[in-house]
Amino acid sequence: MSRPLTIALAGNPNAGKTSVFNALTGARQHVGNYPGVTVEYKEGSVQHHGRPVQVVDLPGTYSLTAYSPEELVARNYLIGQRPDVVVDVVDASNLERNLYLTVQLMELGVPLVVCLNMVDVAEAKGLKIDAAKLSRMLGAPVVPTVARSGRGMDELLQAAVELADSDPEWTPLEISYGTDVDQGAAEVSALLQGPQERRGLLSAHWLAVKCLEGDQEVIAHVEQTPELAERVLPVCRRVASHVRSTMDDEPESVIADYRYGFIMGITRQVMVSEREMRMDFSDKLDKVLTHRLAGPLFLFAVLYAIYEFVFWASASPVVWFEKFFGWLGGAVSAVLPEGVLRSLIVSGVIDGVGGVLGFAPLIAFMFFAIAIMEDSGYMARVAYIMDRVLRIFGLHGNSVMALIVGGGISGGCAVPGVMAARTLKDPKARLATILTVPFMNCGAKLPVFSLLIAAFFARHQAEMLFVLTLISWGLGLLAAKLLRVTVLKGEQAPFVMELPPYRAPTLKGLVIHTWERTWQYVKKAGTMILGVSILMWAAMSFPGLDASQDAAWQARMNAAPTPAARSELASARASAELAGTLAGQAGQALTVITAPLGFDWRTNVALVGGFAAKEVIVSTMGVAYSLGEVDTEHPASLSQRLAREPGWSPLAAFALMVFVMVYAPCVATLVMIRKETGGWGWAMFSLAYNTLIAYALALAVYQGGLLLGLG
Ligand code: GDP
Ligand code: MG
Repeated sequence: MSRPLTIALAGNPNAGKTSVFNALTGARQHVGNYPGVTVEYKEGSVQHHGRPVQVVDLPGTYSLTAYSPEELVARNYLIGQRPDVVVDVVDASNLERNLYLTVQLMELGVPLVVCLNMVDVAEAKGLKIDAAKLSRMLGAPVVPTVARSGRGMDELLQAAVELADSDPEWTPLEISYGTDVDQGAAEVSALLQGPQERRGLLSAHWLAVKCLEGDQEVIAHVEQTPELAERVLPVCRRVASHVRSTMDDEPESVIADYRYGFIMGITRQVMVSEREMRMDFSDKLDKVLTHRLAGPLFLFAVLYAIYEFVFWASASPVVWFEKFFGWLGGAVSAVLPEGVLRSLIVSGVIDGVGGVLGFAPLIAFMFFAIAIMEDSGYMARVAYIMDRVLRIFGLHGNSVMALIVGGGISGGCAVPGVMAARTLKDPKARLATILTVPFMNCGAKLPVFSLLIAAFFARHQAEMLFVLTLISWGLGLLAAKLLRVTVLKGEQAPFVMELPPYRAPTLKGLVIHTWERTWQYVKKAGTMILGVSILMWAAMSFPGLDASQDAAWQARMNAAPTPAARSELASARASAELAGTLAGQAGQALTVITAPLGFDWRTNVALVGGFAAKEVIVSTMGVAYSLGEVDTEHPASLSQRLAREPGWSPLAAFALMVFVMVYAPCVATLVMIRKETGGWGWAMFSLAYNTLIAYALALAVYQGGLLLGLG
């Protein structure tokens, strides 16, 4: 089994590489030059239990970019020669700076052993490093050494040979570089996937990140295939300029910031003493914002402030939008003759889409608040803080981003949320995260909440949304825990929470980020929701009353003694008409199941439509209740109409909000779950799991509330 092994030593200048090299190889070494460059090349050999091991001393570098001949030589050696193991010699007394190279070695994916050298110097400085924890976080063996005295050299060689014998795959680490760069990297790497990747034996993701960093070597490599370069390079340029305009910085320095963020996340955890550690602005701010007690308190204050801000800022625009769509409906009604076409345009299109678009200002302000958190670097701190809580429920620190994007701060979307779970390595925790995302309050549930809050809890808007956020987190976490102790039982793998330095967000960046997400929402309203809205309108309009029924109603109305009685009859007629339609019949059939939850058949119709997309709930209710509307002179907003409806109460509204929060993920989310889990099994599981929990909760809320006399 003794095949000859090659170990390459990498590390910063003065980390002690040559000392390690000498301690390992003794006199059995020779020195030369790398071909074509003046960079020195040293090779030696050592016997491990009678087996020859080649040791190569790479030039000392701080990085693996293509800036200096040393970096290029080191990188090309690793890529071209593929040593069995890379031993990264790290100066423990200068851990943070030295780990910058370590991260890049991990991004490249080399089989890695970390030689934690100069622990004597570190100890003299009062720094103690938890090597076992560092090893867990890096996912690589870490051996503390003092190369000058030879301490730890046997263990180091042993660890390297053991790793080599395990025949390790190159596994490139994928860290997050922030939303903009991550999205760009995904786009570029999709183009690079395939033959290009295999030829260089490098991951498409790594190549993509390098292209975005502006790495001339990699770009030249891509340019060797002109058809590929033609497609890849324009995308790179576009992504780079997008990053420049949103972050006001070059992609490469944004990427470097996130690498340091990854390192900060590690050093925070493994440094037992922080004496001597330099404190810059970010560190000082983090002392407070990630503090065990002050951190969560500040986070709650921020969330509360966001809700106050969003409702305050969007109050007038939402009214303008409502008024505009109300006016539009009235104007069209005045122009078009009564009939199917008018009904389609007013009830199907304007009320349906208007009900959704009306909330666009609210969604936009929410995205604006999220953009501030993300662009400033505070979002990473939120993840860091929440991490402690999430672990209790069997999720990972990295789950936080998925949950927040999925609506953890009301206003996200489960589709990118499910995708964001990709950064999780542990398959069970990843699955648990994916299945927890639909519990969050995505932007599509927000209009439902806003509508019901405006109708029944108008005086406590921000508080109510805050409470709903807490409920969705609580339920999501409990549901995750339930999964983690049953179908997804398993050990937790360690991980690193990135803490990139704080940045001042630019107004331009905030506007672009807000616009991108708001536009997605509006686009959804304009396409998918418009389609579903028209379908629902048709289901709610046909077959309708037949001529004799219609005549009977007409006669009764004509005979009405007062205008009030007449309008009551008109309302009853509209209701009877809707009840006879396809959707009405389906909604009524479902009341057998939903009556104990306090939902009437119109709500049932909306909930069925909401399965296609949650936004449709509001638009369907808009259609359902506008069909029942009689007073065309003073069209009331939907929330006013609901508040006036006899079947409704704050309790019923609350039960409905809980149900909407939890029940079946929308079709788009299910499709994404299928895609990310590789089959319909988990998507169907999610559908059943959420709907059952939603039903049980809404039942408990409504029946419990009735018992307490809250009806
Ligand atoms: P290289 O630049 O990475 O090759 O680093 P060297 O091996 O040349 O070491 C730089 C300096 O650090 C030399 O003076 C070494 O004697 C010293 N050195 C190396 N390892 C240790 C160690 O573990 N403890 C201490 N105190 N000094 C060390
Ligand atoms: Mg040296």
